[in-house]
Amino acid sequence: MNPRQCQGVQELNQILLKMGELDGAMLALKQQLQGIPKRLAVELKTEQERLDIARYLYWQMPDVHAEQIAGELLGMSIRGIHRQAFLEKIGPFASEFLCARCGTNVVCRSRQELEDLHGPRPRGDNVFFGNGGTVEILCETCHHLARQEKFSNRRSA
Ligand SMILES: [Zn+2]
Repeated sequence: MNPRQCQGVQELNQILLKMGELDGAMLALKQQLQGIPKRLAVELKTEQERLDIARYLYWQMPDVHAEQIAGELLGMSIRGIHRQAFLEKIGPFASEFLCARCGTNVVCRSRQELEDLHGPRPRGDNVFFGNGGTVEILCETCHHLARQEKFSNRRSA
């Protein structure tokens, strides 16, 4: 049978065509999204306003690239040695993750750190790997104490 005469195949082609159109629309919207920081830089008059919105975008709007936020709103680069200065300017973020020992919100200093906590195998500076294979998400204070504990246990063993 000629596939072109088959109704199911015609339907399949219609679906693929629509998916292609939606992909194109999505791509256009994503490009528009990356232009928002530039638009905001014009709209926001003071440095403080730009910094407030840069913080908001960085922590709450992961779809907006950090490079755009830094470049357009703060006039900074995030490449190489400039990354640290950008992160210090943006400031830390109290994540939704609670410390396994004291229950306070675990503070993240970069999107990467926050991302590293998600998923079945959390990793990064906020994750503590104890003796015996335990894995805990800890705040900075508890992480520090847990490391000391681990170290002194190892020494006395
Ligand atoms: Zn803690």
